[in-house]
Amino acid sequence: MKVIDKIKNRKKTLFSIEIVPPLRGSNIEGIYQRIDHLIEFNPAFINITYHKDEAVYTTLKSGAVKKHILSKRPGTVALTASIMNKYKVEVVPHLTCGGFTHDQVENALIDLNFMGIENILVLQGDAGHKQTAFVPEPDGHTFAVDLLEQVVNMNHGKYLDSKLEQPYPSNFCVGVAGYPEKHYAAANLDSDIQYLKAKVLAGADYIVTQMFFDNKYYYNFVDKCRAVGIDVPIIPGLKPIAMVNQVNILPKLFHTHIPEDLAKEINKCADNKAALEVGTQWSIEQAKDLMKNGAPVLHFYTLGAGNSIKKIAKEIF
Ligand SMILES: Cc1cc2nc3c(=O)[nH]c(=O)nc-3n(C[C@H](O)[C@H](O)[C@H](O)COP(=O)(O)OP(=O)(O)OC[C@H]3O[C@@H](n4cnc5c(N)ncnc54)[C@H](O)[C@@H]3O)c2cc1C
Repeated sequence: MKVIDKIKNRKKTLFSIEIVPPLRGSNIEGIYQRIDHLIEFNPAFINITYHKDEAVYTTLKSGAVKKHILSKRPGTVALTASIMNKYKVEVVPHLTCGGFTHDQVENALIDLNFMGIENILVLQGDAGHKQTAFVPEPDGHTFAVDLLEQVVNMNHGKYLDSKLEQPYPSNFCVGVAGYPEKHYAAANLDSDIQYLKAKVLAGADYIVTQMFFDNKYYYNFVDKCRAVGIDVPIIPGLKPIAMVNQVNILPKLFHTHIPEDLAKEINKCADNKAALEVGTQWSIEQAKDLMKNGAPVLHFYTLGAGNSIKKIAKEIF
């Protein structure tokens, strides 16, 4: 079922999670354990992130330099299939501009379509390791809106090869990312929202936000989006802090503010166990407030969240 239909048919705020594929060399059991803990709360969908391959160079004994293409976190599509089959739940793989040429996007979309995937989250993708800004692939897309247009074209039966005799239209429901505290590269929140509007006009069905720790950013963002005519559901993304050092790491990685009250409480914690308690309680309050104010779905980022999401879900859903 499409995410957008799940949202339309909901009787209450829905629960969803994001899973990051395990590091290369790890197995899938850790992911299953994480989902096993949460499946009783009936996630409406489970997102699986995508991480593009990186070039790694090693110097051989001869002095020659060998290039390897490695994926630090491989397996988005395989993980999508495994989770779908094991839990019979809607899975939303992420698809990024980074790592794909136009042709590879089309191949990936055909595969996802054959797998019965109905939902994808379309993104620009993170900048590569050692890059300060996103660099598109040669013959790849630059912005999420460009990738989105290719997906929408395929939904209309338009493939790259316009001479196909009976092109079969796909039927993907497409989500895109939004940033309540603005995307780090955007000049300001208003211009970022204009680009977000372009994604919605191009056919995005819903928006999932970057994590935030102060709901006022989300409410302000939703108001600004509605004021410029963005009328699709805006799903808040939540991340419970689970470690003391996340107070400094998360702002650096995700360009989000940690409110002073939360930072103070976490910094008082003697260990990560105490920090997890504080982070969990903070997320519970955030979630309750968002629910009270009609958030369509609460989407939880699970990476590095320890077992806090189970506690939160127990309290909220
Ligand atoms: C919910 C969520 C899930 C994510 N999952 C992943 C993942 O699985 N893998 C991964 O690598 N990364 C992921 N990311 C990170 C994301 O890829 C980065 O934040 C990336 O830098 C921006 O992606 P975007 O899709 O928002 O980009 P875009 O919408 O393309 O925007 C990127 C920047 O360009 C500007 N912009 C947009 N369109 C234009 C235009 N036409 N002209 C000029 N400027 C423009 C925007 O204002 C913004 O500053 C995720 C982020 C979120 C919020």
